[in-house]
Amino acid sequence: MNAARTIRRVGFRKWYERELLQSHAHLVLVLLCTVGLLGSAEAYSLRLAVSSQLLVVACAIASALIGFWALRRYLYLLNHAEFVADQAVCRACDTYARWEILNPNDAGQPAPDRLRVRCKRCGHVWFIEL
Ligand SMILES: [Zn+2]
Repeated sequence: MNAARTIRRVGFRKWYERELLQSHAHLVLVLLCTVGLLGSAEAYSLRLAVSSQLLVVACAIASALIGFWALRRYLYLLNHAEFVADQAVCRACDTYARWEILNPNDAGQPAPDRLRVRCKRCGHVWFIEL
């Protein structure tokens, strides 16, 4: 529903660009968490005081958890953007992302997770699932 609102407000191309930027920002976070995890492994030593060992282990756990969350978010955002982009091609004339969103009232009550669009080139009408 958030995607539909954003596409209506800024257009499909901007939304797609933002999704890709956001997903790759999460990929950068995954890489930073990997560095944090490796740094924790490097800093850990049995010769450290117990409190320092616990601190290093806590840093490693935090890096792993944040990295796992960021990896899931990266994959979700990327796959969702590609899923929607695959539907942005007009099946009648193969034009990519040149369509206008039709008024929801034209086709009755649409689901909030789909857009009814019309190709600007040939006038073909179809639905895009979000
Ligand atoms: Zn078309």
